[in-house]
Amino acid sequence: MQQVLKYRRRTAHEVRIAGVKIGGENPIAVQSMTNTPTSDVECSVEQTKSIADAGAEIVRLTAQGRREGEALRPIVERLREDGYQTAIVADIHFTPEIAMIAAEAVDKVRINPGNFRTSGGELERLIEICRRRGVALRIGVNHGSLARRIFDEYGDTPEGMVASAMEFLRMCRVVDFHDVVVSMKSSNTRVMVQAYRLLVEAMEREGMTYPLHLGVTEAGDGIEGRIKSAVGIGALLADGIGDTLRVSLTEEPANEVPVGRALVDYFKGRTAEFTVASLGGYSPTEFRPRTSAKPITHSEITSEYDVVEATSNNPTHEWRAAILNREDSRPVVLRRRYDETNPELVAIYAAADMGSLLLDGLAEGVWIDAPALDEATIEEFELILLQASRLRFSRTEYIACPSCGRTLYDIQTTLAEIKARTSHLKDLKIGVMGCIVNGPGEMADADYGYVGSSAEHITLYRGQQIVERNIHQSEALDHLIEIIKRDGRWHDPK
Ligand code: SF4
Repeated sequence: MQQVLKYRRRTAHEVRIAGVKIGGENPIAVQSMTNTPTSDVECSVEQTKSIADAGAEIVRLTAQGRREGEALRPIVERLREDGYQTAIVADIHFTPEIAMIAAEAVDKVRINPGNFRTSGGELERLIEICRRRGVALRIGVNHGSLARRIFDEYGDTPEGMVASAMEFLRMCRVVDFHDVVVSMKSSNTRVMVQAYRLLVEAMEREGMTYPLHLGVTEAGDGIEGRIKSAVGIGALLADGIGDTLRVSLTEEPANEVPVGRALVDYFKGRTAEFTVASLGGYSPTEFRPRTSAKPITHSEITSEYDVVEATSNNPTHEWRAAILNREDSRPVVLRRRYDETNPELVAIYAAADMGSLLLDGLAEGVWIDAPALDEATIEEFELILLQASRLRFSRTEYIACPSCGRTLYDIQTTLAEIKARTSHLKDLKIGVMGCIVNGPGEMADADYGYVGSSAEHITLYRGQQIVERNIHQSEALDHLIEIIKRDGRWHDPK
């Protein structure tokens, strides 16, 4: 039987977050998160305004304790007084009591099912407040912080993430509460994409249509952060999945907004359709590489590779159909022309187009044909894209959190310093995380971790093990390098 491949937005029911409607036929909303201490009302109001002025419809603030939870009300009041109708979300990780306080002040509350009990009636109490005030809820699953019992049953897998979300969604359904949004974030793009696709299948099986919030966590900064986010978010948007999104960058929060907006706009108006004779062994929820060929950039193409070009306004489906219909068994290099002159846009579009095929194992190479860019830039983008799609690691991978009100040091400057001294260590993954509460879990598969543990103090990790505690920030990077040297994983830059 022939299958038609085309862009079709997944059906999600509408959820209202203050004046912002997501799901249904509504445009995909762009959001970001403050990194000011939420207890500092003045600073948080100013930063929320700057994010809103950059074009975000929704802004999230962390509420880790009572002081922060109680600061939310004056923050929302000040914003409204000043004419900002931006939807405000409270981010709760651990304490149900703070979720209740926050729900009395904001438009949406995000809870992490890994840290929030389903027993004891707390979720029901939170939902009752949300229902009374018209507040939405986000079930925000994180790959790095699954509940112990889920982890023991599934490991830290996409299936475990889905089980965690479904448990909470079923409870929401039992109490007839549907103003719920779900997210399945990971810093690993393959895990993230599979988790969302599996969740969509699981919800469809149970007749659920909750809207989805997309994001790649700890994507880092600069062009790497943009490409990594575009790979994960773009793969899902191409399949019509996603109703709101956040690009997480270790930069000023307002910088996230234009990247998110570029992604949303890029997927508008995709009309081209393609057919395939059969899907063969292709599965969007499993990584099944077609060949064991080396993943390559365009400068490395040989006759052993086949170049497949996409020219329509729906490149993801065009490539998918072309590759599945091919008789040729050679590994595939994806080629597409980008006439944009802004290098950042070329990188975002190419990552959003090609990432899906790379993550699914359908292609082994990339060719960004961008006449306005120089060769070195294109080569760099292609290598970062292969790395962001987890096919070829050619540089140190930084799993850096975007920072939030819990961050205990200047993470943007520190990340730049760490990169300056370690970016030549291409086989390493280094986590750079703002706080010790969520940082260690969320840097999941990092080889080393640099984690804020108290004001200006850092705790260093090897994998998930603490190696040195509470070192002053001024010495922490030297100590990290010493640890890498002792482990025999250091070499001097060439
Ligand atoms: S790891 Fe970073 S973004 Fe996550 S809660 Fe801690 S400081 Fe905030």
